[in-house]
Amino acid sequence: MTISRRKFLRNTGLAVAGASLARPGLVSSAASIVRGPSKKIAILGAGMAGLVAAYELTQLGHDVTILEARMRPGGRVFTIREPFSDGLYAEAGAARIPDEHDLTLKYVKLFNLPLEPMYPTRLSSLTFDRNGTRHEGSMESFTEALGGYYGGDLGGSPSRWQKMKGGNDLLPKAFAQRLAGRIYYGSPVVRIETDAKMARVVFLHAGSPQTISADRVLCTIPFSVLRNVELPGLSEQKLEVIKRAQYAAVSRVYLQARNRIWEEKGLSGFAFTQSAVEIWHPTWSQAGPRGILMTYARPGEAERITNLKDAERISSTLKELDGYFPGLQTNFEGAATKCWLEDEWARGAWCFVGFRDFVRSTEVDSGRIHFAGEHLSAWPSWIQGALSSGLRAVKEIDAA
Ligand SMILES: Cc1cc2nc3c(=O)[nH]c(=O)nc-3n(C[C@H](O)[C@H](O)[C@H](O)COP(=O)(O)OP(=O)(O)OC[C@H]3O[C@@H](n4cnc5c(N)ncnc54)[C@H](O)[C@@H]3O)c2cc1C
Repeated sequence: MTISRRKFLRNTGLAVAGASLARPGLVSSAASIVRGPSKKIAILGAGMAGLVAAYELTQLGHDVTILEARMRPGGRVFTIREPFSDGLYAEAGAARIPDEHDLTLKYVKLFNLPLEPMYPTRLSSLTFDRNGTRHEGSMESFTEALGGYYGGDLGGSPSRWQKMKGGNDLLPKAFAQRLAGRIYYGSPVVRIETDAKMARVVFLHAGSPQTISADRVLCTIPFSVLRNVELPGLSEQKLEVIKRAQYAAVSRVYLQARNRIWEEKGLSGFAFTQSAVEIWHPTWSQAGPRGILMTYARPGEAERITNLKDAERISSTLKELDGYFPGLQTNFEGAATKCWLEDEWARGAWCFVGFRDFVRSTEVDSGRIHFAGEHLSAWPSWIQGALSSGLRAVKEIDAA
């Protein structure tokens, strides 16, 4: 006997309207039993929103295809491993996971990925007061300064913050591994159109346009990039929101040192500067003797760095950090930089649009196109936001 998806969901208390699709374990177990009619779904973008939606829709028995412009999954969850030596790595995007981000932590657990503390407990951090006077203190003094400047979201006890041992890209890779045959890399979408019966997506493959048809499209492309995609039929109001969405500038500079000379002076390598730039030692939990120090600049400071040539970004950062950690210049080996405004498939670090505002902004229903991504969630600029928006779209699409 076959059982319809809807009947199965009702019987198991996973009825679509009230379903907590945020419970990956339950959804996964549903998959092997569901035998309802499936929908053909095109998902645009293999970032966290697209991946979680693809994974859960597949578990529910739908036929999913993912089109991704890059040659890797994860979007703004991106671990930089090159050009560093000895297997060292650092995060270009998402780095820390707070203990209240239940969705992020559930998928980390589902895929058995190892977590470790974000911050070291030993050695001193540097903070600077309004007059620029330098203070050496515990890791608490760093998170306190950070939370004080950027809001409580980033503060609290250092022990509430974790990261993935081996790099945060392990999470998107774990999703992608389970979806391998369904993902088309190197496939930038250039047009999305929909009518009463079907949706069609035009993408480039080896530079030539190709079209796929689907019952439903889930678009997770950041609005900063989506504004360059043809969207015939979408309401003027929605197009206006997409056009106006403001993405934040973030710049990071990574400096590899032959030795962790700052540790010899009792310093952890973490600092919060007078211009509100974070300095991290992301390799503190990785094997030495080499180490990476990195800067994390947000709007205000990030644009200035983005406007510099790569060599200048590196030389000016090296000079500044040598002032905090003397000896860095003589131990310097090589560097990398990441400025999110110039990332072709992100054009910025994050943005808040708000799903309700986006939906309300349209008079005409967007029909067969659904939208997700951190920008359309209650947790913009977090993995948790991308995941929650993806799961909201799963409910919409399954119920449609
Ligand atoms: C610097 C930085 C620091 C951050 N720090 C944290 C943190 O500490 N903790 C945390 O939880 N989160 C953090 N985040 C936020 C987190 O990384 C994002 O919220 C989340 O990864 C966004 O996922 P997404 O799926 O919405 O978008 P994306 O990851 O951007 O995914 C969208 C995908 O669409 C693809 N795409 C774009 N255009 C096209 C096209 N035309 N055709 C096909 N595909 C396309 C992109 O390549 C990408 O893979 C940070 C982000 C940044 C940038």
